[in-house]
Amino acid sequence: MVEKVQHFQHYGTGFRILICVFIIAFICQVMVQNAEAAVNDTSEEVFLNPEWLYAEFSEINTGNAVLYRAEENRKDVVIGLNAGHGTEGGALVYTYCHPDKSPKCTGGTTEEGAIQSYAVSDGMIFHNGETEADANLLVAGKLKEKLLDAGFDVLMIRDDANVQLDNVARTVICNNVADCHIAIHFDSDGLDYDKGCFFISVPDGLKSMRPVSFNWKPCDSLGRLLVDGLVDQGFFLYEDGYVPIDLTQTSYSTIPSVDIELGNQSTVLNDEVIDRYAEGLLEGIQVFFSEKYSEGKSGKSL
Ligand SMILES: [Zn+2]
Repeated sequence: MVEKVQHFQHYGTGFRILICVFIIAFICQVMVQNAEAAVNDTSEEVFLNPEWLYAEFSEINTGNAVLYRAEENRKDVVIGLNAGHGTEGGALVYTYCHPDKSPKCTGGTTEEGAIQSYAVSDGMIFHNGETEADANLLVAGKLKEKLLDAGFDVLMIRDDANVQLDNVARTVICNNVADCHIAIHFDSDGLDYDKGCFFISVPDGLKSMRPVSFNWKPCDSLGRLLVDGLVDQGFFLYEDGYVPIDLTQTSYSTIPSVDIELGNQSTVLNDEVIDRYAEGLLEGIQVFFSEKYSEGKSGKSL
């Protein structure tokens, strides 16, 4: 042993420094790996379970959502955030508009009377050339941060530019994993001015169809609270803040579910505006769940 120590000392200061650098680098690497493991402990990939109600109506479902868990002030409430669009090839495949295969009762991306519509449409392009899909993801990402800070868990249906989950799969995953489903969009209306925010309310023609028949009231309540929150952040509403449209999302939803349209292709986005969108939506979500649980519909309290 003494010989070995002496032998080591013979290598000189430079060699010993080199050895020390290697050891420190190794320790740092282990620490980084442990930190990454800690982050992964708070998130989980979520795939479509083919056994879930309506899962068989999905055509694109090889991708996955990600469930993020709040670390502090946990409320045990999962908010499903669906950054609209962002599925490569989604407009080449069709799914049934309704689980009973009845025709659409309003126009929209697909015309009234259609039995099937795009699995996921492409979304619009802003006047500045940015895509709606990117903008939706920016708002969803900011809202996710705020929700986690507030103690909500967040199910991110789409976490990057492309997720292979169609609108049916997105909705069915939210139905089974989340307590509500909020799809973030900007409208494509061809106008050269920003007409304001609104949510897609449930059209009368859908209110007798299952599962909408027992779910449309909380959907519209959540939508109203979301636009109220946006108004509190200084945004203005398009007309009364809602437009009834027959959506695939609504037609397959069994939990409170809203498509919120934050603006249109003329909306100018920057960090400050995105932050205010997220703040307004957070307020609406907080009010919705505090009202829901104060009504005694759940043992949960916020
Ligand atoms: Zn959209």
